[in-house]
Amino acid sequence: MYKIEMKVPLVEMDGDEMTRIIWQQIKDIVIHPFVDLKTEYFDLSLVNRDATDDQVTVDSAIRTRELGVAVKCATITPNAQRMDEYKLKKMWKSPNGTIRAILDGTVFRAPIMVKGITPFVSVWKKPITIARHAYGDVYRDAEMTISGPATAELVVTYPGGQTQIKKIHDFSGSGIILGMHNTDESISAFARSCFRFALEVRQELWFATKDTISKTYDHRFKDIFEEIFNNEYRTLFEDAGISYFYTLIDDVVARVMRSEGGFVWACKNYDGDVMSDMLASACGSLAMMTSVLVSPNGKYEYEAAHGTVTRHYYRHLKGEQTSTNPMATLYAWTGALRKRAQIDGNKELEDFADRVERASIDTIESGIITGDLISLLDHPEKRTVNTAEFLEAVASRL
Ligand code: NAP
Ligand code: MG
Repeated sequence: MYKIEMKVPLVEMDGDEMTRIIWQQIKDIVIHPFVDLKTEYFDLSLVNRDATDDQVTVDSAIRTRELGVAVKCATITPNAQRMDEYKLKKMWKSPNGTIRAILDGTVFRAPIMVKGITPFVSVWKKPITIARHAYGDVYRDAEMTISGPATAELVVTYPGGQTQIKKIHDFSGSGIILGMHNTDESISAFARSCFRFALEVRQELWFATKDTISKTYDHRFKDIFEEIFNNEYRTLFEDAGISYFYTLIDDVVARVMRSEGGFVWACKNYDGDVMSDMLASACGSLAMMTSVLVSPNGKYEYEAAHGTVTRHYYRHLKGEQTSTNPMATLYAWTGALRKRAQIDGNKELEDFADRVERASIDTIESGIITGDLISLLDHPEKRTVNTAEFLEAVASRL
């Protein structure tokens, strides 16, 4: 049978547990029959990360910098229990953290919306994409408990020995303090990734901080965004017919709840953490959230927002059929194939990615779904299928 050719390979990052099973099923059932798939394969399973002292994760990220597009399966981030389970040499760091640091990227998450699954916020008609700044603030802070009375100060020491000091508080009793930071470099990379992404999807960009209260820290975010927008993106945005909109975080939350969606919402680290969970649950299921890491110089790593779905994997190991939702992982593949196709000018491959997404939405809208969606979907003849059956239903529509 005729197969669509690929010119340049994708970086393929395989992963763990149930998503590793789904990974193979997606390739076998939906991709291989239609595409002469070219990838450079990196096995990011916990077993292989341990065997390579995590070098495989670093190598895959470096290769992504070169090839430009990667697709990643969910991976286990080890904790104490996993140390035991996998007899690990070390508690390896989160692969997503390692890859993000090497690509210096921002993560964009958006729900897959289908007819019949209505968001809890009923005015939302189009997906809202959340961009989370994944560096600094409270995630890299220094915290202390204080047994007062005491005076707490911020002290900055420059290489020449000069210091800058500012009082935080005179404590009369016990209390708590924290010091946090961000860098102009990281905020600028975040801003550029957001402007670039909004241009690509031709959607408005919203950004918010609490600069009325945090007049130096949050204000710096606002200024950097504004400066980069004015110097590098204003004309491009005007040409594309989209806008950049800055407001306060509380104002933006109120606006989001009244909006119909269809924009990119750039969030500071904490806001993004909290708001992306809100968005995912308001849209129904974590299994329907897509995720892409975009670097400021235009490198892309596509993945699902969910994890390795451990509970389903243990059932799979016992020989049970599971009805794990493959949509977000399937969209990681279509996202990566489409981006590869666009960069290489491969129209046929781009059409294929579009058709797979349409076929998967048609499948759900025809009532064929996985267990996680059964109570959410409004359809008279809905029925639950297992993961392979769902993917076969998608492939049969191609
Ligand atoms: P999870 O794998 O996302 O699963 C949490 C629960 O959400 C599942 O038990 C399942 O609920 C439901 N769920 C998630 N995805 C689903 C899907 N595709 N289809 C159906 N149901 C789905 O999160 P976790 O259990 O907290 O973490 C498991 C492992 O994944 C951990 O080792 C963690 O380190 C890793 N993880 C990796 C990434 C990543 O690589 N990006 C992200 C997050 C977590 P029910 O069991 O009730 O059906
Ligand atoms: Mg969270």
